[in-house]
Amino acid sequence: MKAMILDKQKKIEDNPLKYKEFDKPEIKSGQVVVKVQANGVCHSDLHIVEGDIPLGHELFPIIPGHEIVGEVVESKSNIQVGERVGIGWFYSACGKCEYCISGRENLCPYATVTGINHKGGYSEFAALDSNYVTKIPDNMDSAEAAPLFCAGITAYSAVKKLNVSPNDRIAVFGIGGLGFYGLQMVKLMGGKACAITRSHPEVAEKAEAYEISDKPAGKYDGAIVFAPNSGLVETAVSSVKSGKTIVVPAIMDKISIPFGSFMWEKNVTSVASGLRKEARAVLDIASSGGLISMVHTDKLSSANEVLGKLKQGKVKGREVLIP
Ligand SMILES: [Zn+2]
Ligand SMILES: [Zn+2]
Repeated sequence: MKAMILDKQKKIEDNPLKYKEFDKPEIKSGQVVVKVQANGVCHSDLHIVEGDIPLGHELFPIIPGHEIVGEVVESKSNIQVGERVGIGWFYSACGKCEYCISGRENLCPYATVTGINHKGGYSEFAALDSNYVTKIPDNMDSAEAAPLFCAGITAYSAVKKLNVSPNDRIAVFGIGGLGFYGLQMVKLMGGKACAITRSHPEVAEKAEAYEISDKPAGKYDGAIVFAPNSGLVETAVSSVKSGKTIVVPAIMDKISIPFGSFMWEKNVTSVASGLRKEARAVLDIASSGGLISMVHTDKLSSANEVLGKLKQGKVKGREVLIP
């Protein structure tokens, strides 16, 4: 099979992903092999490829990609050949620990990641754990469903953490793939989605944001920081009211917050993407017409160029690779 292979973490400008032949995955008990139909390109892929996320040499070669939708072509599980399934960042967990048995499997200490611990979706085929995949509703296009598995679920999970009350003004910093869905989730949960973006106001408009501005305006009832920029976390903390929450799904090195802006009982939390029930909820919302999508497709072999565009902030909505 053909795949985009990463042998060594390097800057994207050096074209670190190589389009070449790789062994088709072998199926184990409890697994399915899918023929990948679509794989969304996430900002985390850039962190993986460029080395912002340090990875042990035993993990290489890596096939990135954690927004996979594919058709089952082999199965050693109760999932039938021919069904369409998807998987996101979270690949599998132990099924036995305190988190797994309480329905918070994304916090399992033995959780594994698609496209790091297992070969991901920058590939023609992928082996997935049948216990952790989610079925795709029949009326959904594979390319539109793929980004929901990381961007969609993470945005949903982030907004849920805010316990939005009707008419709450929620600040959304960073309107890339996640922010695009985040604005829509705020609206779906009854809030007023306030986009704060300098580079993508038209994406915020497409997502039907309530307000669009290039800097915070007034105090908010909650905030989400999707852009991987620690300065924005500090801005977000000082722009919410006392006792409110700031959710930070973006991956960043370090966050520093002056105590003065943090002292009025503000909660800062992160998001570990991947609960199955959240994947089902997001697919339900999308299949019943509740989400606008903004997807652009490209050939799998163009992954380096697509990631380069993402790095330069030139991607609007979500890019999806088609093998
Ligand atoms: Zn992701
Ligand atoms: Zn566990």
